[in-house]
Amino acid sequence: MNAGSILILPGDGIGPEVMAEVRRIISWYGDKRGLEFEVSEDLVGGAAYDVHGVPLADETMEKAQGVDAVLLGAVGGPKYDDLDFSVKPERGLLRLRKEMDLYANLRPAQCFDALADFSSLKREVVAGLDIMIVRELTSGVYFGEPRGIFEENGERVGINTQRYTESEIARVARSAFELARKRGNKVCSMEKANVMESGILWREVVQKVHDEEYPDVELSHMYADAGGMQLTRWPKQFDVIVTDNLFGDLLSDVAAMLTGSLGMLPSASLGAPMANGRPKALYEPVHGSAPDITGQGKANPIACILSFAMALRYSFDQGEEADRLEKAVEKVLADGVRTPDLLNEEGKTPASTRDMGDAILAALDASL
Ligand code: NAD
Repeated sequence: MNAGSILILPGDGIGPEVMAEVRRIISWYGDKRGLEFEVSEDLVGGAAYDVHGVPLADETMEKAQGVDAVLLGAVGGPKYDDLDFSVKPERGLLRLRKEMDLYANLRPAQCFDALADFSSLKREVVAGLDIMIVRELTSGVYFGEPRGIFEENGERVGINTQRYTESEIARVARSAFELARKRGNKVCSMEKANVMESGILWREVVQKVHDEEYPDVELSHMYADAGGMQLTRWPKQFDVIVTDNLFGDLLSDVAAMLTGSLGMLPSASLGAPMANGRPKALYEPVHGSAPDITGQGKANPIACILSFAMALRYSFDQGEEADRLEKAVEKVLADGVRTPDLLNEEGKTPASTRDMGDAILAALDASL
C-alpha cells in the first residue's frame, strides 16, 4: 500500500550518515510490512548552499510543503561558520519551520533501561521514563514586538516582549491533548501565571480548551520554575507537558539530559492539518552535524531512527509499527550494542553507525 510521501533532507556532517540508516529502515517497512513510502531527497543547509548559494532552495521549500513528512538530518559545520547570517545553514532549517508554520515542537524524553546509568540522575528516578514536552515554537518572547536595544535616560535598555494570542495558545494546547490521548492521557501545562499576564491567559485558554473539547484528559497546571524542579526530582509523574516557547526551550533541554546521550534524542515539529488530515510535519534528531566525528562511522543513528518512528506514529498513523521500531531499538541496546557515545567501559568494541543499523534491522526481522 502507498503509505505516504517523505522528503529526506540529510543536510551536513553526520546528517547523511545517520540518514543512510533511516533509508534502510524505510525500505524494510516497504519490503516486510507492505508500507511503500514515496521517498524523495533534496539538499538543505551547507550542502544546499554549496550548490544553490542559499541554505534552502525555493523548489525544496515547495517540495516540503507538498509531502506528508519531512525528515531532516542536521545542518551546519565549520566550513560555513564565516558565511553571512542570511545564508548560514541554520537559516534553511528556520525557513522550513517558519513557512510550514510548525507551531508544536514535540520533544520526547525516554530513558531506555539499558542506558539508565548514563543519566546524571539515579537509576530509579529515570529508568523507564517516557514523557513528552510540547513546546510552542512560533510565537512568544522570541518573536514578540517591540524588541531591540534602545537608548533611555542616557543608558541602553534591552527589550523583548512575551506575547500570545488566544488562538496561538489554543492550537498548541490541542496538539498536547491529542498527543495525551495516544499516550498516558495526562497533560501538565506550565507557565508563570503568578507573575505574568501572558501566563494568566495561557492558563485560562488551556483550561477552556480542555473543558470544552478534551474533558476526558487529566489536566493540571504548574508554575514553570516548579516544573523544572519536579522534572529533576521525580520526572515520572508527567506524561505530556505543554508550555510556551521560552520555558519549553529550557525545560526540554533539562528533560533531554535525564536520558543520557544526545545521539538518542528525536524530535518532531507539527503544524496545522493538511487537506488529507495529516499535520504539516518535520522530524529531526535534536543533535547537530557533529563535525568532530563526521566521516568516521562513529555517529549514533538512533536519534534519527527514533525521529522516523515519530513520523510513523504522528504522520502516518502507524502507532503499532512505531512501537515495533522503538522496541527494536530497545532490544539492541539491551543486547549491549553501543556506538562510541554510549560506551563508557574500557575494552569494549564499539559498533559503527552501520553496525547499529544492521542490529536494528535484525531486531526488526526478529519481531515478525
Ligand atoms: P552537535 O550536536 O553537532 O555535537 C555535540 C557533541 O555531541 C559532539 O561531540 C558530537 O560528536 C556529539 N554528537 C552529536 N550527535 C551525535 C550522534 N548522533 N552520535 C554520536 N555523537 C554525537 O553540536 P555542536 O557541536 O554544538 O554543533 C555542530 C554544528 O551543528 C554547528 O554548526 C551547529 O550550528 C550545528 N547544529 C545543528 C543543529 C540542527 O541541525 N538541528 C542542532 C545543533 C547544532
